[in-house]
This record gives sequence, structure tokens and C-alpha cells, in this order.
Amino acid sequence: MRKKKNKLFIISGSSGVGKGTVIKSLLKRHDDIKLSVSCTTRNPRPGEKDGENYFYTTRDKFMKDVENGDFLEWAEFSGNCYGTKKDFVMETLKNGNHVLLEIDTQGAMQIKDKMPEAVLIFIAPPSYEELVSRLKGRHTESEEAIKKRLEFVDFEKENSKKFDYIVVNDTVENAVKQIEKIIGKDDTDK
Ligand code: 5GP
Repeated sequence: MRKKKNKLFIISGSSGVGKGTVIKSLLKRHDDIKLSVSCTTRNPRPGEKDGENYFYTTRDKFMKDVENGDFLEWAEFSGNCYGTKKDFVMETLKNGNHVLLEIDTQGAMQIKDKMPEAVLIFIAPPSYEELVSRLKGRHTESEEAIKKRLEFVDFEKENSKKFDYIVVNDTVENAVKQIEKIIGKDDTDK
């Protein structure tokens, strides 16, 4: 038996690419992977729960936390701030679990600088048209918000060149299988 080594995994990808569904499936199958719940200044979407999807906070409180050094990384995305709680990540790694961050590419770059051993995975859509269709199809954002999010697509694509892996989310099952291979969850992490 090989000695298990816990790791920090980052998953990024443009809005609407289906990161959430892929991650949900991954977490269901591997209970030693713990997802970090981020802080955000954006408003909850219908059905989202505080402490489950995000910790929702005000910009003032967020900036105070930034000053206190509470975030491992943070970034502004589409007019809102998002940050990863440092304590959760460090404690969870210390306890022997893998940690998964679902963050934007700006945050991923910050983590890569601080923790070069982190594994960066970018989820790409099969095509730009498919991405637009998925983003519009989920009916969670206004036209204006969708436009704003699509403005980030090229920027994120450019940043993805610095990622360790790119996984095309053609089907959830394929994407999950590819990620399992990358993170050693197919048959090597035993
Ligand atoms: P959404 O508003 O759709 O939930 O998230 C918008 C973007 O913010 C997504 O790309 C998501 O991955 C990213 N995001 C979520 N949490 C964090 C975080 O803690 N840090 C950073 N840098 N990005 C985050």
C-alpha cells in the first residue's frame, strides 16, 4: 500500500461551464475530499444557503477580513468579491484530507504562487456557443449579469494556460473520470 498524500486541488472554469455539477459528483464519490466554502459579497441566488454555498458578507466586512489576513486568496469577479478562508484550508490539510477550491483563475494564480504543490485544473466547455447556451439555460442571472460574466471568458481562457490540466466538460461523467485520473482517484490513490 502506498502512503496517501493529501493535496490541495483547485478547479476553475468560466461561468456556466458546469463546474458545480462536476464537483458535486466528485464529492459524492470521494468523502476524503473536502470542499472549501468561500466568502462572497454577492447576493445569494434563490435556493442558495449561507454557510453551504457561500458565507455571504458585506464589502466592508470582507475588506476587514482581507486586512486581517483571513483569506488564503481573494479576487473581484464580475463586480463582487470572493475569498477562501485560510483557516479551513490549513486545518483540513493538517487533518489529512484533500481540499478542493472552486475559485476563479485570478485566485488560482495566487494559490499557485503561495503553494506551488497545489494542483490546478481548468474546466473548459466543448465550445464557446455551448458555454453561452449553458449560462443562459440555467436562468440564474439577468441578461446584464450574463453579459458581464461572458466578458471574463477570454481572460480566464488566457489564465488557463498556466494551469496544470485542462478538462473539457463534454459530459459530466467524462469530466469526473478525467479529474479522478488527475487526482489519483482512479486506482492509484490506495
Ligand atoms: P458565482 O457567483 O457564479 O458563484 O462565482 C463566480 C466566480 O467566482 C466563479 O468563477 C467561482 O469559481 C469564483 N469563486 C467562488 N469562490 C471564490 C473564491 O473564494 N475565490 C475566488 N478567487 N473566486 C471564487
